[in-house]
Amino acid sequence: MPRSAEALATPSRDTPYYEPVGGECRLFEHAHQHGLPLLLKGPTGCGKTRFVSHMATRLGRPLYTVACHDDLTAADLTGRYLLQGGETRWVDGPLTRAVREGGICYLDEVVEARKDVTVVLHPLTDDRRVLPLERTGELLQAPKDFMLVVSYNPGYQNILKTLKPSTRQRFMALSFDFPPPETEVAIVSRESGLDRDRCLALVNLAVRLRALKGQDLEEGVSTRLLVYCASLIRSGVPILEAAHCTLVEPLSDDEDVKAGLAEAVHATF
Ligand code: ADP
Repeated sequence: MPRSAEALATPSRDTPYYEPVGGECRLFEHAHQHGLPLLLKGPTGCGKTRFVSHMATRLGRPLYTVACHDDLTAADLTGRYLLQGGETRWVDGPLTRAVREGGICYLDEVVEARKDVTVVLHPLTDDRRVLPLERTGELLQAPKDFMLVVSYNPGYQNILKTLKPSTRQRFMALSFDFPPPETEVAIVSRESGLDRDRCLALVNLAVRLRALKGQDLEEGVSTRLLVYCASLIRSGVPILEAAHCTLVEPLSDDEDVKAGLAEAVHATF
């Protein structure tokens, strides 16, 4: 029997702060109830990781987060035999632990991982919901509470690094983007402690900087960087200096592009 919607605890003081943008919390909960794997798409720094930790806490499930990189292999997720105290012992990887404990496993930037990772994910992301551990000979049946969440950033436009249809069509998917301005002001203010008026000015600037995205600028300025900027301003760094090292330098190495960004910053402050 699926659990009722009341199973989702309202956020408590210990719940990582997450400001919802639409119906994503409800949809996450439904995905969890039905054992559906979830794909989160969206630019870096727009709240995907925070969303997953918020939901894991509200659902009362342990969370295993893995930042995927191009050397990450299936064994890094499932586990391996390690020499410990003179003995060889099997040590579960984060995916295996999440399956055993009925937790949530979050694979951030899953497209970065090696190809063999998809081989372990496939039987977990269809109605079998099993994790075969070849090395130990186990076939783990995922309990109802186990959930797999993956994210990727379609904005990078790297044709070699995209999810194959045979993989992506195993996931329910939610698109993330930067929050609408009034929500982003609330987030930046809450995260940094900077007053709303100055956060509003920063968010308006971000909207202008994001409009420059395109030709030379791969990604628009993230909510994460706005939080950095606001935190520096709050602790006394002059606005222009804070904006330069959080909203200009991290975005590009190209002098012309940086000059364009700096111009927008100077026009605002
Ligand atoms: P992503 O995983 O998409 O790269 P994160 O979840 O790490 O991004 O978000 C970066 C930062 O932006 C967070 O640490 C948080 O400060 C802030 N943030 C972005 N969106 C939200 C949101 N909706 N609610 C609360 N904080 C947010």
